[in-house]
Amino acid sequence: MADKKTELEKIKEEMAARADLPLANFSNLVFSDGDAEASVMFIGEAPGFHENRLGRPFVGLAGQLLDKLLVEINWPRASVYITNIVKRRPPENRDPSLEEIAAYAPYLQRQIAVMQPKLIAPLGRFSMNYFLPDAKISRDHGRLLTKDGQLIFPLYHPAAALRSTSVLEELRKDFHKLPHILETGTMPVDLTSPASIPSPAPAKKEPKTAQDSLF
Ligand code: URA
Repeated sequence: MADKKTELEKIKEEMAARADLPLANFSNLVFSDGDAEASVMFIGEAPGFHENRLGRPFVGLAGQLLDKLLVEINWPRASVYITNIVKRRPPENRDPSLEEIAAYAPYLQRQIAVMQPKLIAPLGRFSMNYFLPDAKISRDHGRLLTKDGQLIFPLYHPAAALRSTSVLEELRKDFHKLPHILETGTMPVDLTSPASIPSPAPAKKEPKTAQDSLF
């Protein structure tokens, strides 16, 4: 069996030859970036203006934030794998349509089958809902979920974090959990959460003393 890089290259070439895929007449194919052998796969929604121009995912402002967060957790960008669910830029950077997602999803599925990542981190609701249709990004970001045995850790989209400091804080907090999750397959214990502080053992009932029984 060919190595993962060669297998992924084949998928890319097949996609490039499919002139009938939605958006094929409008924008360039932006397939992926990073290491074909990576154990983590970040999946965004669709390329934007800069990605379309340079042919690489996440190279605009949202990509710069993603890079910064990767630096914070000491993960070189080249050590992870980054792709999008829809691999061509929709006009005016609009949201990808359901038809576009459906047309491109089989290729993402094949990328996953080749790579067999230990962890998938969808960036934003579109890629999260592809795996987990009922999930809500505001509720389910930063939760470690499984789908058909695959570990999935949804994150806010970096573009949303550029628009809101509270979303940025949440994204950063979730991001910093990634190394532990990758290493152990479990969530780190949050020592700041009251739920993780063990409650004191119930006070033992002191046996009544002889003195008490006098009153
Ligand atoms: N937003 C995405 O979802 N993907 C990119 O590649 C860039 C911005």
